[in-house]
Formats: sequence, C-alpha cells, structure tokens
Amino acid sequence: MLFTIYYLHRHWEYKDMVISLQWLPDKCEIQSRLMALKRMGIVSDYEKIRTFTVAIVGVGGVGSVTAEMLTRCGIGKLLLFDYDKVELANMNRLFFQPHQAGLSKVQAAEHTLRNINPDVLFEVHNYNITTVENFEHFMNRISNGGLEEGKPVDLVLSCVDNFEARMTINTACNELGQTWMESGVSENAVSGHIQLIIPGESACFACAPPLVVAANIDEKTLKREGVCAASLPTTMGVVAGILVQNVLKFLLNFGTVSFYLGYNAMQDFFPTMSMKPNPQCDDRNCRKQQKEYKKKVAALPKQEVIQEEGDIIHEDNEWGIELVSEISEEELKKSSGPIPDLPEGIIVAYTVPQKQEDSVPEVTVEDSGESLEDLMAKMKNI
Ligand SMILES: [Zn+2]
Repeated sequence: MLFTIYYLHRHWEYKDMVISLQWLPDKCEIQSRLMALKRMGIVSDYEKIRTFTVAIVGVGGVGSVTAEMLTRCGIGKLLLFDYDKVELANMNRLFFQPHQAGLSKVQAAEHTLRNINPDVLFEVHNYNITTVENFEHFMNRISNGGLEEGKPVDLVLSCVDNFEARMTINTACNELGQTWMESGVSENAVSGHIQLIIPGESACFACAPPLVVAANIDEKTLKREGVCAASLPTTMGVVAGILVQNVLKFLLNFGTVSFYLGYNAMQDFFPTMSMKPNPQCDDRNCRKQQKEYKKKVAALPKQEVIQEEGDIIHEDNEWGIELVSEISEEELKKSSGPIPDLPEGIIVAYTVPQKQEDSVPEVTVEDSGESLEDLMAKMKNI
C-alpha cells in the first residue's frame, strides 16, 4: 500500500512531494539513522544541523556531490553559486544526468536536491562571482543569506576549479571575517585537498599563494589548447566526502576538525597540517583580521595549566583492563646501574648497568711446550 502511494506521489509536483514524503516509512528511517549518531555518543545534538546555512561556490564534480551529501544530512539552507551548464562531456562525474545537459548547473542541482530532501531551503545564483557587479551581490548574500534573512551564512565552501575564483572567495571572506573551506582536485585527477580558513586565525589563500597567483600569471594562458584536465569520479567523491565530513565536525562540534587534509591517491597518503597566517599577507583584510584575532586571544582569561600527578589507573573501566609493566621490579633492578647523587628535583631516566665481569667464563690455555714449527709439521701430517 505504502509502496503504491510512494510511486503515485513521486510523479506529482514538488508541493505534493512534501506531503507525500510524510507517508513514507523511509523518511523516518533516514532520520533515525542520523539520530543514532546522538545515541551512540558521537554528536551531542544532531538536530542542530537544521539550523545551519552553507554556501557552495562551484557546483561541479566536487560541489554537486557536496551539496547532495549536505542535503541528505538535513542541512537547513543551501546557497549555490555557479554560471556553468551541465555538459554531456562531464558525465564521468557524479550527480548530474544526461537528460539535464544544457540546463544551468544550479537549476538542475536545485531540482534534484529538492526531490531528495524537500525540507532543505535552496537559494541558487546562476552567475560568475568574479565580475565586479556579481561580487557585490555575492558578498551581500554571504552576509544576509542565512536561514533567517539578514543573518550571515555559517560556512562558505569553495568547490571551484580555478585560482581567480578562489582568490575572489578569499577576498570576500577576509573582508567579512567569514569562515570558509577550500577544496581542490589536481589536474591529473589523482590527488586533492581540503582546507579550513578562519580569517585571522589560520592562513588564508593569499598568505601562501600558489606560484601562479604570486607571480600574477594569467592562468588561462597555462591551459594548453586541445588538452583538457583529467577527472575521476573516485577522487572527486573522496574529496567531497572529506570536505563534508569536516563541515559536519565543524558545525556539530565533534571529533577533530582538520585545517588541512590532503589526499594522494597514488600512495593512499593523507597528509595533515595547520598553517598560521602570514603577517605580511598581501590581503590587507587578512592582516586586519590577524590583529583582531590577537586582541581576542589576549582578552581571554588565562588558563592555568594543571599537571596531573600520579599514575593513571584504569580501574573503573567496564572490562577491568589494568595497565601492568612487562618487567618485574627485580628485573629492572638487575638491568640498572647505581643511581648517582643528584640535586633535588632531578631524576635519572635510566642507568647503565655495571659490567658483569665474573659472568664471562675464563678460558685457560695450557702450554704444551711445543714450538710453532712442531705444531705446523703436525698439522701438515693430518
Ligand atoms: Zn592572508
């Protein structure tokens, strides 16, 4: 019965879809699977996800999958920015389908995502953020496009494929003091990275710019004619996955949020690091944010470092596991040497045991009284 209702409603318009989903047993199940994160002690308040707004710039190989994951996770609102159209040549990537070819990426994405989860609010902008006019509008929507109009978005995600757009997002976020995450996949499709940028606190995109940006080279001149960048749905899927994982950890406050996480598919290597901002950064707003961050840190009440004393004994663990030394006191004594007289407060890390001379068996050689010539002659006869 429910199955028939599901199919009937699937073919109705979007408005009816909202109602029809309430009949679906699946919706309940999806929610309870996410709520299980709370029961299992991973996230303290999963429902909070509905209160957040995320802006995604670039709805291509990484951005579209990122948007789908956040939609399925139940994010409150998504703002999508892109000026490209869906192309058949990009069907090796995830998300878009051949019948959507020719449609704008943001429109096609909105349609698909609304069908997946009609509870999410969508706001889409089909333009290039790097033009002066659009940049102003982009800044305005970042500052006012939150779930409640007039409030800023919680996070901006850069899923673009060029440095010019990254620098534009960087400029906007430095000016607004807006936290954002950058992502990228290499031209040869076998490596990628994500980076969390909190203006003033961690390095911005201009603090340590790539050579193309630092040398002011027009990146369009770098693209060889007839040669297109490689792309793999696997690498893009992995990068989108680690990006959204970091977004969830950042928004819902669980686990360790990565400031930089790389992915090298050739060696299955995931390097991590964090970078402090550059005090000589070219972006004046970055330098301004750095000063403000320093002031904020200085104003914080100083926390005293309390050193824990004594051994940590895990007596109260449920399995009764205890930590015991693998060597006995006696064995330790035997393998140690005498402890020298030391001033108070200084202890030895280890001591060198004394040489146990008597333990070496003495070998005595009896003199047979024979000369070397005699011995040599004997050996020859053997
Ligand atoms: Zn900077």
